[in-house]
Amino acid sequence: MKTSTRLDIKAIKAEFPILDQEVNGHRLVYLDNAASSQKPRAVVATLERYYERDHANVHRGIHELSTRATQAYEGARARAARYIGAGEPEEVVFVRGTTEGINLVASAWGPENLREGDEILLTVLEHHSNIVPWQLLAQRTGAHLKSVDISDDGRLRLDQFDELLTRRTRLVGVTHVSNALGTINPVEEIVAAAKRVGATVLVDGAQAAPHLPIDVGAVGCDFYAFSGHKMCGPTGIGVLWGRRELLEEMAPYQGGGEMIEIVELERSTYKPAPQKFEAGTPNVADAVGLAAAMDYLEDIGLERIHAHEHDLVAYALERGAEIPGFRDLGPVGDDRAGVLSFELGDIHPHDLAQVLDSRGIAVRAGHHCNQPLMRRLGLGATTRASFYLYNDRDDVDVLCEGLNAAIEFFS
Ligand code: PMP
Repeated sequence: MKTSTRLDIKAIKAEFPILDQEVNGHRLVYLDNAASSQKPRAVVATLERYYERDHANVHRGIHELSTRATQAYEGARARAARYIGAGEPEEVVFVRGTTEGINLVASAWGPENLREGDEILLTVLEHHSNIVPWQLLAQRTGAHLKSVDISDDGRLRLDQFDELLTRRTRLVGVTHVSNALGTINPVEEIVAAAKRVGATVLVDGAQAAPHLPIDVGAVGCDFYAFSGHKMCGPTGIGVLWGRRELLEEMAPYQGGGEMIEIVELERSTYKPAPQKFEAGTPNVADAVGLAAAMDYLEDIGLERIHAHEHDLVAYALERGAEIPGFRDLGPVGDDRAGVLSFELGDIHPHDLAQVLDSRGIAVRAGHHCNQPLMRRLGLGATTRASFYLYNDRDDVDVLCEGLNAAIEFFS
């Protein structure tokens, strides 16, 4: 996947006004991209233009602005479908983000498809939002949760899928890329194994869609969920992609305006998917902003973005090896995204993050919404630096200076 065409990081940085500031008297070095990314001018300008010229409610109005807003919203749906290689725009449901997408599947698909004694297979790499909705579903249906472990190098134990997948496995939930370790999981292989026992597969794409080219057809899954705010888009918007026939079979998730055909006092009929799952006034502006973010990322090229981030992690690991007590927790190899989760001697991650913040460096410290994984690693927390297209080797150097300063400070 690597390509030799390097990104022009100086030009890219210039597109992100927020990066051009000092924090605590130092140049801001933003390394918290796995939590949320910053927004380029093109996205902010799209939001501004939409609100200044085109905004109205969608689908209902017979006036010019409503027509424009509807076209912009449905255009964003088609854009999102292209971004992930979906067959049809109707397979794209706009949601608030990955969390809502997964909850939608657990609530609308789950109860009809799971019975007492059925099994849901997850992995120890899952974010809480790909665990808790399935726990709620298991409590409602009497299904059981099982989980695939990792080996000590941070990779999933693929051999365990063969052991844990049974005829009772109805649902497999797996993250495409780990937000805590940066592991890129072989989702195609996992989906193929799940399909051999007839399981439905949901892939959590929150950390993949911003950084890798995605083709849901090639992945072979049934549902794919991701968030706009991690991929240069606005907050409050995300995508749940589902296979057409599954979306058609599923009951509505919420009831209200926009999702109905005929309403009587006692009963209603519903529109087909995706409208059936979008009750109420949708988040039109942010869907349009997300489409602009997809244009922006694809213009640069997701393969180049991934290669750049991979290169930054490799450089960070090289520099980290020179720092006493630095221990990276992710896999080393091509299956590694731009996430660097590490320990630094016995310095607590929160203390470390505070020292880094005092030097203008934004990282995350904690369990990263991965408590089962932290337990598996025998840790309460890690420090995580996560890279995006606007980071460069200078940022890594500043991070490493910060780590050395922290060692000195706490010695
Ligand atoms: N899954 C993964 C792997 C994530 O990293 C995140 C965000 N940290 C989520 C799900 C949840 O995304 P959101 O909060 O945008 O719904």
